[in-house]
Amino acid sequence: MGTQSFQELGVAKWLAESLEAMQIHKPTSIQAACIPEILKGRDCIGGAKTGSGKTIAFASPMLTKWSEDPLGIFGLVLTPTRELALQIAEQFVALGAQMNIKVCVVVGGEDFVKQALELQTKPHFVIATPGRLADHILNSGETTIAGLRRVQYLVLDEADRLLSNSFGSDLERCFSVLPSSDKRQTLLFTATITDAVKVLKDKPRPADKLPVFMHQVESVDKVAIPRTLSTLYVFVPSFVKDAYLNSILLLPKYKDATAIVFVNRTMTAEVLRRALRKLDFRVASLHSEMPQSERTNSLHRFKAGAARILIATDVASRGLDIPTVELVINFDIPSDPDDFIHRVGRTARAGRKGDAISIIGERDIERIQSIEARINKKMELLEDVDDDKVIKDSLQIMTTAKREAMMEMDKEGFGEKKKVNKSKRANSEENSLESRRDKKKKKKQKTT
Ligand code: AMP
Repeated sequence: MGTQSFQELGVAKWLAESLEAMQIHKPTSIQAACIPEILKGRDCIGGAKTGSGKTIAFASPMLTKWSEDPLGIFGLVLTPTRELALQIAEQFVALGAQMNIKVCVVVGGEDFVKQALELQTKPHFVIATPGRLADHILNSGETTIAGLRRVQYLVLDEADRLLSNSFGSDLERCFSVLPSSDKRQTLLFTATITDAVKVLKDKPRPADKLPVFMHQVESVDKVAIPRTLSTLYVFVPSFVKDAYLNSILLLPKYKDATAIVFVNRTMTAEVLRRALRKLDFRVASLHSEMPQSERTNSLHRFKAGAARILIATDVASRGLDIPTVELVINFDIPSDPDDFIHRVGRTARAGRKGDAISIIGERDIERIQSIEARINKKMELLEDVDDDKVIKDSLQIMTTAKREAMMEMDKEGFGEKKKVNKSKRANSEENSLESRRDKKKKKKQKTT
């Protein structure tokens, strides 16, 4: 924590008061470092893990400048997942409530037309995922695009992930309507300073622009996981992983612990959620194949304690602010060691203790080796599980529950929706391309 107050860093008085009201009194180190530099007008790269206070590090200088001259769409925040967008928007709304702030959330899975109308009313801040914003740029009228052309701040949150290939074309479409980089301020926050992030830093800049300010809270490459986190493992034949999961969740030391169970596929998440539900666990799930309303609902149930266990794919591994998780279980081992770090980062936050247990099957050895090399630490054996007890207590019931779950899903056609959605999206993209072509044709006809 820094020693200065928010006001001493240059944050507007009204905003410092909002922060006080939210029990946020002293700036964290990323806030103390970045806020004054952003206020000077510098572009900024912040290397900081979630939980470091990075949202307020970029929100408070933007809100300070906005309150001096609240014109048009003032700032655009791009972030990789819908949940992160909602979480960031919540913070903007809470901070700016007394200034009648208008914040528009543009994410997939929610009503497109409603968002389009909201975008046209020139909200002060737009918090978006790249895919949906790109769709709006393609389909909405000039008013939306004209609004975006005057954005003064662009924030790339979780930039390492945004700049990875999967967002490439959507990001390009978003950037294509924004002011050029010398006419806006760009603020980039990332847990890992990847090569793509470095490229942005070293890009040639106009002579009258201050150099990019770069601040790294701590060397995230070296101290990747919190010291208060125990990394544990069990090594089991992969076809009995579910039985071990059941037994671990019932161990005396974990039987009341809030836990996130990470899996690699949406199908696994759904099977496990249903199976554990049948065994009377209070469980919710979070994965990309659920409708947005259900995703939000699951997260609320989990945050409020109505569900003790959240089964999630990597949509939940980054950035979600769920402060009370005591246990993370890797039911599947991620192929990217960075995903491991993000997953286990859901526990042992802010100096608290936490356990991360990896259920390792025979095919996971290589992955574990690269994870251990990345975190520079060997995992320790979880001694509390007794193999005979797992076979006796969990194997039969878990196998039955899983079989029933899979039969139900088969009946309901789980997974079919994905195919339908894909073709719907393809259709809508085709339609919008069609309509653009039509418009172009008409324009041509007018001018000729
Ligand atoms: P973030 O890194 O933006 O995801 O923030 C993580 C959490 O820390 C959020 O719940 C914030 O409300 C909280 N937070 C941010 N800044 C501070 C601060 N200076 N003091 C205490 N809590 C903070």
